[in-house]
Amino acid sequence: MKINSNYLNLQENYLFSTVAKKVNDYTKANPDKKVIRLGIGDVTRPLCPVVIDAMQKAVTEMGNADTFRGYGPEQGYDFLRLSLQGYYSKKNVSLELGEIFISDGAKSDLGNILDILGQDNKVAIPDPVYPVYADTNIMSGRTITYLDANEENKFLPLPDENTDADIIYICSPNNPTGAVYNYDQLKQWVDYANNHDAVILFDAAYELFITSPEYPRSIYEIEGAKKCAIEFSSFSKTAGFTGTRCGYTVIPFDLIRENVTLNKLWLRRQTTKFNGVPYIVQRAAEAVFSPEGQKQIMESIDYYRQNAAIIVKAMNDMNIWFTGGTNSPYVWFKCPNNMMSWDFFDLLLTQANVNGTPGSGFGKNGDHFFRLTAFGNKENTQEAMERFKKLIG
Ligand code: PLP
Repeated sequence: MKINSNYLNLQENYLFSTVAKKVNDYTKANPDKKVIRLGIGDVTRPLCPVVIDAMQKAVTEMGNADTFRGYGPEQGYDFLRLSLQGYYSKKNVSLELGEIFISDGAKSDLGNILDILGQDNKVAIPDPVYPVYADTNIMSGRTITYLDANEENKFLPLPDENTDADIIYICSPNNPTGAVYNYDQLKQWVDYANNHDAVILFDAAYELFITSPEYPRSIYEIEGAKKCAIEFSSFSKTAGFTGTRCGYTVIPFDLIRENVTLNKLWLRRQTTKFNGVPYIVQRAAEAVFSPEGQKQIMESIDYYRQNAAIIVKAMNDMNIWFTGGTNSPYVWFKCPNNMMSWDFFDLLLTQANVNGTPGSGFGKNGDHFFRLTAFGNKENTQEAMERFKKLIG
């Protein structure tokens, strides 16, 4: 028996476990210090009341023989797909129900999608990047080329004459950089993909953080995208479902490669390897789209937005170059004094007792950058930025 030796090519430590270990070691050694965590991407606000109500009602249904549900449709219940169809229509995107697949979160589908994409494709992934895109490709033995995201292009790489890719990963608003593609920029990628028979894997997990009208919240707002893009999204960051687990993937019927509809391949994949998201969770997700649900989730998002604004103000006050923070829960900034990101991580942790995420964990272009998140609480975010300012002088 041979193992999948591609796994040996992965970096030994997953970024967040290294960060967690360093923070735990520090807090154990310094129990009197209050470390403020602005590092992780997990949310902190609870599920909103209408979601809890819907979940409880669904739990009751499951305990009654007349309303009990066993296996559900692998691709999701129609009630939730209808809600999503309505949600997309508000973005002027019309989808058929069969184009929407309910998932247990964007991460799983972003990894699993590789099942239906040929092994020999040239894969282009931005650097820095959400580590899942790169790691899942390494696990499957694919060769990656990196698209340089840097200060010069404001961390929004665009196709040029050297671009050579069959599969392109785009995350907008971006994790970790908080940068967001505008309509014109995203159109350049859509045109590239359509002209080169490539496919865009578009991660819209943070779409609801967008407030400015110049940024699309779905790639399908761009003309031609249904012929070249798969969209992944999630209730995790928009409605606090990180622990509840629900997301969705859209594969338009128009997306055809080698005369095969990718939607059909994905349906075959899902019906074979996936048994759907729990009924209770899908009812909870459906409640997000009720008028009250929309109002309640926006309260939490507004709360995070205010935290982001606190970080942005501090960056401006300190004259530090950064991206994100508006239209995004992430602020990505240049380490003061050109420090390396892990050195700055140690400095910030030990001297200011603030925990963030070193940019190099997201790729080589993050070596001198650092990520803070808006998912903490307001008082802590405020205090963290005061400590940061004191540290930098
Ligand atoms: N995509 C991006 C860019 C993320 O940052 C995350 C989580 O941090 C995910 C996807 C995962 O989302 P989910 O919780 O739906 O699996």
